[in-house]
Amino acid sequence: MTFSLAIVGRPNVGKSTLFNRLVGKRLALVDDQPGVTRDLREGEGKLGDLRFTVIDTAGLEDATDDSLPGRMRRLTERGVDMADICLFLIDARAGVTPTDEILAEILRKRAKHVILAANKAEGSAAEAGVLEAYGLGLGEPLRLSAEHGEGMPDLYGILQPLADQFAERAAAEAPETDIDLSDDDDMDSPLPKITAARPMQIAVVGRPNAGKSTLINKIMGEDRLLTGPEAGITRDAISVRIDWEDTPMRIFDTAGMRKKAKVQEKLEKLSVSDGLRAVKFAEVVVVLLDAAIPFEQQDLRIADLAEREGRAVVVAVNKWDVEEHKQEKLRDLKEAFDRLLPQLRGAPLVTVSAKTGRGLDRLNAAIVKAWETWNRRVTTGQLNRWLEGMISSHPPPAPQGKRIKLRYMTQAKTRPPAFVVKCSHPDKMPESYSRYLVNGLRESFDMQGTPIRLYMRGGA
Ligand code: GDP
Ligand code: GDP
Repeated sequence: MTFSLAIVGRPNVGKSTLFNRLVGKRLALVDDQPGVTRDLREGEGKLGDLRFTVIDTAGLEDATDDSLPGRMRRLTERGVDMADICLFLIDARAGVTPTDEILAEILRKRAKHVILAANKAEGSAAEAGVLEAYGLGLGEPLRLSAEHGEGMPDLYGILQPLADQFAERAAAEAPETDIDLSDDDDMDSPLPKITAARPMQIAVVGRPNAGKSTLINKIMGEDRLLTGPEAGITRDAISVRIDWEDTPMRIFDTAGMRKKAKVQEKLEKLSVSDGLRAVKFAEVVVVLLDAAIPFEQQDLRIADLAEREGRAVVVAVNKWDVEEHKQEKLRDLKEAFDRLLPQLRGAPLVTVSAKTGRGLDRLNAAIVKAWETWNRRVTTGQLNRWLEGMISSHPPPAPQGKRIKLRYMTQAKTRPPAFVVKCSHPDKMPESYSRYLVNGLRESFDMQGTPIRLYMRGGA
């Protein structure tokens, strides 16, 4: 995803129509932070060869009520702040309204980049409105018809060069840390505090019937410590707050989301992927498999997505109570896991029975450990001592006779852990050597169950 595009405009100008056109049938995401109004929609946009995040500020509740300027303003501002580019829609048929003027003002002040578009521009009825739009002081309006798909090539023509710019900038801005070896006193920095107010965020994802609802019910049933406004015994909760074996957690219940969606007409219209949405807000993703049909395509996709999004992952194999040949089955599962999800190498695989509750203590432990690893920081001193050892047991390659020198290494960030290696000729560093280092990090620092990012950087 190269950049994010917010569709901004007053109600009824065609934001949702355009959103749907750009996102198509691809999975739409919904901002589902509990306690926050469900108001921004996100999806994966596609236009020609461009891929980007689209944010629709239309709101899921019926936002046709123009009497809520405060709410509309807040929504717009949030969308604008989140986005690299704002596509500001006006309704060419209605012309420029006072609300448009207010929004234009916000955009001029806050937006990083604005594209003005006059929507509903098909046919001649729109000419006057297009001309009026010039008066907003945001440049020449792009003529669009979200409904009929007109103007999309022009939109592409504007977005394409911007996408290139963003890609270049992102490459230049990738973690670039000043490495100061002297600062390091070999003290591990403490993990962020998990409290009732800031619980660990867990998503349970998996195919329908994997047993997600049963699992969460069981967890809740065993530790009846529900708090928080949106938590409830009812199954239509979007998330539940629970102290599970003394760790405050918020568990995103994707089965529950589905039910909630039924009540909300507009949400249903979106056909959102529950799992995808949950992954976005989770710190640890529990991929729940049905032991009878493990590692189906859908499971693999969501696990891969969780890895790409940089979430800690725990794989739980459910319905273990009905499994007859547990030993062999477990061997098969581990083999399939390594083969099908190499990107999650070493992630914990826990067998559970949501029905009987067996294995839930181990699941809890795996979640907590994965979260800790995800938040872990390894000191520069430790890393460089380790790096020396790695280099001497297996030196980096020497493409065209020139050996790549690894100078030093530091951890640039956590959640998930990301490391920067300063070296000569980073562009010539083969993938296999990076993998050797990543696997080594996992083993030496016990970092299973979290994605690890490793960046090669040139310079001293
Ligand atoms: P939103 O409130 O900004 O999200 O607007 P919607 O996408 O819900 O669209 C409002 C109305 O305008 C709907 O009835 C759409 O069918 C209509 N509409 C959207 N785009 C176009 C367009 O390009 N041309 C015409 N004529 N109508 C459109
Ligand atoms: P969801 O769609 O993922 O929420 O799945 P459900 O929780 O609704 O479970 C689907 C079916 O699997 C139900 O009939 C459950 O009773 C059953 N089930 C869930 N967990 C287990 C388990 O651990 N063992 C057995 N034998 N059945 C289970």
